[in-house]
Amino acid sequence: MRKIAIYGKGGIGKSTTTQNTVAGLAEMGHKVMVVGCDPKADSTRLLLGGLSQRSVLDTLREEGEDVELTDIRNGGFCNTLCVESGGPEPGVGCAGRGIITSINMLEQLGAYDASENLNYVFYDVLGDVVCGGFAMPIRDGKAEEIYIVCSGEMMAMYAANNICKGILKFATNGKVRLGGLICNSRKVDNEKQMIEQFAKLLGTQMIHFVPRDNDVQRAEINRKTVIEWNPKCGQADEYRALARAIDQNTNFVIPRPLPIPELEKLLMEFGLYN
Ligand code: ADP
Ligand code: MG
Repeated sequence: MRKIAIYGKGGIGKSTTTQNTVAGLAEMGHKVMVVGCDPKADSTRLLLGGLSQRSVLDTLREEGEDVELTDIRNGGFCNTLCVESGGPEPGVGCAGRGIITSINMLEQLGAYDASENLNYVFYDVLGDVVCGGFAMPIRDGKAEEIYIVCSGEMMAMYAANNICKGILKFATNGKVRLGGLICNSRKVDNEKQMIEQFAKLLGTQMIHFVPRDNDVQRAEINRKTVIEWNPKCGQADEYRALARAIDQNTNFVIPRPLPIPELEKLLMEFGLYN
């Protein structure tokens, strides 16, 4: 079973990209579980056809400890399995703790057992790796393979660089490795070349360039991944290509985060501010 976590700046497209990639892998015949690790609990909406999922934390709050796998895991598009860890009530408690509780609960209930025949588990994780809770999937070996969603916008690259610092911290003593950057285009000048170079400097690769396309919104309004909503459209093929690239990836590294002046130099070189 490959254990993958998707990180990246808020709003960059982690949940959208994760679900569309998972749809691509599921279409190829893989058995995939998605674990949403964002208190927003919107990591599985497109696979489930709506926000119908009750989060693990809500379930625990309402039913106590006596829960079953079917209470917290729902079937989605193409036999995918969907879980939302959820979060504490706003303003109360630590969201990172919720992730820890959820993953422990899934383990106790046997969600990762060999008999489940999972090929992949994906963790869709909120924001930067700053708080310990959000680093949880990579800290205890829950996820071993990281992909960072970024774009050519400075703050997205800054966040990607920070996430690399987190990976570096845990990689030295653990198995976690960076599998690549997913460029989710924001139509920045020279974006593809710049992210390819950024990836190279970090010691990794740009695993796919996902174009910005309004079909993503059209599918989203219909509560579907692009692959389910319009399997024949160009954007569906982009997500299939990304799914294939991840499926065939063998390039796993301990990243080398850049000093900030080097990151700024890269932005200047590729003409963003020329
Ligand atoms: P995150 O999970 O990183 O916070 P989301 O996946 O929720 O981000 O993405 C934020 C919004 O960006 C989504 O509502 C989606 O409509 C849009 N989006 C993401 N990727 C693309 C894309 N390739 N083309 C067009 N819109 C996109
Ligand atoms: Mg999200």
